[in-house]
Amino acid sequence: MRMNGQVALITGAGRGIGRAIAEGFAREGARVAVADLSKESASEAVETIRGNGGDAMALAMDVTDEEAVNRGVDDICNHWGRLDVAVANAGIQHIDPLDQLDFADWRKVVSVHLDGAFLVTRAALRKMYAGDRGGAIIYMGSVHSKEASPLKAPYVAAKHALNGLCRSVAKEGAAHGVRSNIICPGFVRTPLVDKQIPEQARELGISEDEVIRNVMLKQTVDQEFTTLEDVTELAVHLAAFPSNALTGQSIVVSHGWHMQ
Ligand code: NAD
Repeated sequence: MRMNGQVALITGAGRGIGRAIAEGFAREGARVAVADLSKESASEAVETIRGNGGDAMALAMDVTDEEAVNRGVDDICNHWGRLDVAVANAGIQHIDPLDQLDFADWRKVVSVHLDGAFLVTRAALRKMYAGDRGGAIIYMGSVHSKEASPLKAPYVAAKHALNGLCRSVAKEGAAHGVRSNIICPGFVRTPLVDKQIPEQARELGISEDEVIRNVMLKQTVDQEFTTLEDVTELAVHLAAFPSNALTGQSIVVSHGWHMQ
């Protein structure tokens, strides 16, 4: 059990990567706040964790809503008395070429990823500094924190910006024992990716199979998707790392799509 006694918040954890991390943290002994847009969307993950003997709570937390984020983090500390790990994972995608991209869509994507990460960071840091036990902030970046792809400009821009937020937290958090790192996965089969396969096929005029082979997995060393288990293992490693040596880093888990 690598996270015994710790309390963790994961945003966007009702499904996909966030849910896998929440369940993985719970298996490692952490008490887990599963946050998503509504309590209902978080409840299935909470039931699974409890069913396996773990401790979890569901939180309604739209990460772009300052009040909801602050309230949710307060609820965690009122319930469990501490916060040790925060994973800013909530995210959305939007497929459009830049010349046809609506400002509202640009703003929405940037807001969920970047405003959301900031609000979660600030609320978590306040609790971590007050608790004086240090902590870990983990951002869900992407290979798109390092590379661009066509049709995803707001996502690519926001994911690149998370590197800057992560490094800023590493600098400021050090005095309080707070570490900050960013996970950069390649493509993982989740609803977010499944939705964009037909969208990209339409925009690029190719088949869905070609999107997978020639767009998504083309640059990997073995034409394989990264898995939920791969990303979860890295998140546990970053959350449980025993010293402040590992901070301000981005770690790419992508079957070699991006090598740094
Ligand atoms: P997903 O669509 O399966 O899950 C995203 C979750 O975020 C959903 O439960 C959704 O309700 C929630 N969410 C959306 N907007 C929210 C908001 N405003 N406030 C709170 N929650 C919100 O997606 P996923 O693939 O699991 O992606 C999770 C994270 O991983 C995202 O940040 C994504 O950019 C990143 N990522 C995914 C992949 C991939 O291939 N799937 C690759 C790299 C990075």
